[in-house]
Order: sequence, then structure tokens, then C-alpha cells
Amino acid sequence: LSTQELLLSRIRDVADYPKPGVMFKDITPLLADPVAFTALTEAFTEFCVRHGATKIVGLEARGFILAAPVAVRAGMGFIPVRKAGKLPGATLSQAYELEYGTAEIEVHAEDLSAGDRVMVIDDVLATGGTAEASLELIRRAGAEVAGVAVLMELGFLGGRARLEPALAGAPLEAL
Ligand code: 5GP
Repeated sequence: LSTQELLLSRIRDVADYPKPGVMFKDITPLLADPVAFTALTEAFTEFCVRHGATKIVGLEARGFILAAPVAVRAGMGFIPVRKAGKLPGATLSQAYELEYGTAEIEVHAEDLSAGDRVMVIDDVLATGGTAEASLELIRRAGAEVAGVAVLMELGFLGGRARLEPALAGAPLEAL
């Protein structure tokens, strides 16, 4: 089994979640399998090192789970990007468009600064809105974008194309 086949075999399709007509990609079987979770952590870590990252941003909430072991393994700081209202300190906020309405994410302003090269890690790239907003936050904090790494990209939702301007040449990896 290749790493890709192993990872794919541990992702479960759940029909009609969180609403009718949506096929949700559930990563909990992967998290429960230490061989698969380790393989994922190693692949993310290799990508972060190869692209010269110095800090790891995890996107709430599943991105936290995937990014934290990478930060430890790679010896890089872990920075949480959270939904609005969850971080206690002074924050930078970024609003973005959803299918219906808007959402807002935040980061502690003091966690990112000039000289940092930041890799964003999340489980799924869908429309790309969340990742795009996180790249705005990183740049507004004065830091550099090292790239975006996700477990899965839902290609039919066009996230890669939406993200392209914000990436500005930085790599997007979907394992
Ligand atoms: P986007 O902003 O790209 O439309 O949505 C990405 C965000 O929604 C990610 O943070 C991801 O965790 C979540 N997401 C969207 N669809 C799925 C899915 O099918 N499975 C999982 N696990 N997360 C999803």
C-alpha cells in the first residue's frame, strides 16, 4: 500500500452530513490508526521542511489535530487560527464569504511577524475560502507564506483556483 492509498483507505464518506446532499469526508478513522496518522504527519513534516517553513498554522478545528504533531516533529511553533471570538489576546481578524453569508477567523497578532515563513495545514480544501482568509491574515501580520498543505482537496469545488492569487506562487500540496 502506498502512503496515498493508506490515507485514502482511512477516510470515510458520510452521506448527507452536515446537510442533505453533502458527502462529508470523515477523517476520524485515519486519526484512530496510528500507522496512517504517523504517515500523514511524516508527509506533512517533509513538505514543511522542504519549503523552508519556520512556523505552522493549524485551522480550527481538524487542522489543529493534524498540524500540532507536525509542529512538534519539525521543531516549529504551532499557531492556532480560530473562529472569531475564541482567542483571548489582541487579534487580527479576517472575514470571508461562505456559500450563504460570511465567516470570520482570527490569529493572535503577536504570534506572527516579519521573518516568519508560515505553512498552513488543514484537513480538507473545499471552496478554498478558509485557507484564502488564513493567507490574508499571515500577510497582514507581516509574515511570509511558505505554502498550504491539506490532506484532501475536493477538486470539484474549485478551491485551488480560488486560492491561487493568495498563494502568489507558494505551493499548495494535497496529500
Ligand atoms: P472551504 O473554506 O475550503 O470551503 O472549507 C474548508 C473547511 O471546511 C476546512 O476547515 C474543513 O475542515 C471543512 N470541510 C469542508 N468540507 C469538509 C469535508 O467534507 N470533510 C471535512 N473533514 N472537513 C470539511
